[in-house]
Amino acid sequence: MLASRDAQVVVVGAGPAGLVLGNLLRAAGVTCVIVERQSRAHVERRARAGFLAPHSVRVLEENGLAAGLRARGERHDTCAFRGEHGQFELNYGALGHRQPLTVYPQQDLVADLITAFLDRGGEIRFDTAVTGLHGIDTDRPSVDCAGPDGTAYRLSGAYLAGCDGRHGVARRALPAVAAREYRRYHGVTWLAILAQAPPSMAAVTYAVHDRGFAGHMARSSTVTRYYLQVPRGEDPEEWGERRIWDELAVRMRTAQYEPLHEGPILERTTVDLSSEVREPLQHGRLFLAGDAAALISPSAAKGANLAIMAADTLARALVDALVRDDPRGLARYSRDCLPRLWHAQEFSHWMINLLHSPAGDDDEAVFQRALQRARLTSLRDLRSHQDYFAENYVGI
Ligand SMILES: Cc1cc2nc3c(=O)[nH]c(=O)nc-3n(C[C@H](O)[C@H](O)[C@H](O)COP(=O)(O)OP(=O)(O)OC[C@H]3O[C@@H](n4cnc5c(N)ncnc54)[C@H](O)[C@@H]3O)c2cc1C
Repeated sequence: MLASRDAQVVVVGAGPAGLVLGNLLRAAGVTCVIVERQSRAHVERRARAGFLAPHSVRVLEENGLAAGLRARGERHDTCAFRGEHGQFELNYGALGHRQPLTVYPQQDLVADLITAFLDRGGEIRFDTAVTGLHGIDTDRPSVDCAGPDGTAYRLSGAYLAGCDGRHGVARRALPAVAAREYRRYHGVTWLAILAQAPPSMAAVTYAVHDRGFAGHMARSSTVTRYYLQVPRGEDPEEWGERRIWDELAVRMRTAQYEPLHEGPILERTTVDLSSEVREPLQHGRLFLAGDAAALISPSAAKGANLAIMAADTLARALVDALVRDDPRGLARYSRDCLPRLWHAQEFSHWMINLLHSPAGDDDEAVFQRALQRARLTSLRDLRSHQDYFAENYVGI
């Protein structure tokens, strides 16, 4: 084990949470090192989210991090629901908070944030895994690092930020007696598909079908994300390109509407729609942000937005503590974030119930499908339901 190297804040993970946090800390003159398990090329190509809420765009704009999304991001203000009832569109940009979403692929945002962080004098150690955290109850906590050439060393800081996602190590360092973890699988699994093909429709489209849910979301003029509900445990390799396009065509009812723009499938992976929330999000000098703090199902496209919200909140609190000697923001970090995390969980759960119902002809399945129809009809016809949807769809 080599000797420690010091920074005021050691951040674990270079995803949206860790990189937004790192940039905001550097802007305030706080020294900060980010430790990332993967290579730079890997994180800059990892396609995941695409929809940025107005709050996220505002945080990025206010901190000089929005040049890329302003140049290449696209504004979306409408989504469509399609099913046996026909199709209706909701112009959420004219409802609720009257604000649009911005489509900007997560990997492009990550690449922008890495460049900005390095320009601001930050340090990122790529290809370096954090293998353990120590001394979070002391005033000099540290992380064990395994570097690319096999060297092991320890980094210490005044504070640690665990931004290492759902499979990271930071959250496991919270003592079990001090933290509670809530977990839920929502009973739905999606095959997440990335296609090298232009979007097939102008709007995000949610298709409800007896064979299961299908979704269509633009990512750029040449790449589109699709989702297909599949049984849990499904092997993505069972889904060849032809099978994917045929199933999407059935569930998207292309016989009634426009055909899909097909293209090579770049990625296919299954996502169990699940939730995890840790309470509190901190212990001693360790603070969690992003998926490490709370995992949310992608049904409402909130994960990256919540990561940015938590990173912004944590950055302000750390700057207050380190630059102004005011620790009050850190003391209330969990209390500030958790209500917003739970609110988003509630809406994503509401979306899951709107978009999915069980198959089969037993009484329970038939009843659930009738409820789903009623929910969709309310959304189509009632302004109060549309406002609820719009406020929560774009809000954080
Ligand atoms: C298919 C899919 C679609 C999605 N669509 C949307 C969407 O439209 N809108 C939305 O808002 N959200 C969406 N999400 C969720 C969103 O991508 C995540 O919520 C977001 O990436 C969370 O950011 P993060 O920084 O917390 O974690 P991550 O992006 O997971 O970053 C964590 C980083 O930590 C690194 N790391 C892990 N362990 C270690 C370790 N031991 N040492 C060092 N580094 C480590 C990882 O390599 C990674 O780079 C989607 C997710 C998926 C899977």
